[in-house]
Amino acid sequence: MLSCKHYVARSSDHMDQQLSVREHLQVRYHLLFCPSCRRFVRQMRLMRVMVKAMPEPLPSDLDTTVERMMREQSRQR
Ligand SMILES: [Zn+2]
Repeated sequence: MLSCKHYVARSSDHMDQQLSVREHLQVRYHLLFCPSCRRFVRQMRLMRVMVKAMPEPLPSDLDTTVERMMREQSRQR
């Protein structure tokens, strides 16, 4: 089964729907059994909506925020 670390690494591809069918199924299966990754996806989606709604230029600490979220997520479990 896909690990959380693996999922986090592929999460942006997942959200951009860039995964192969096989990867997509693995991701769906993982999310089904992993509340912490489900929460992570929700946060990432929210973040993307916020980013789109933000006026240019983007805040300079945005990358840092995303990186921190990914680090925190991959530390769990
Ligand atoms: Zn997970």
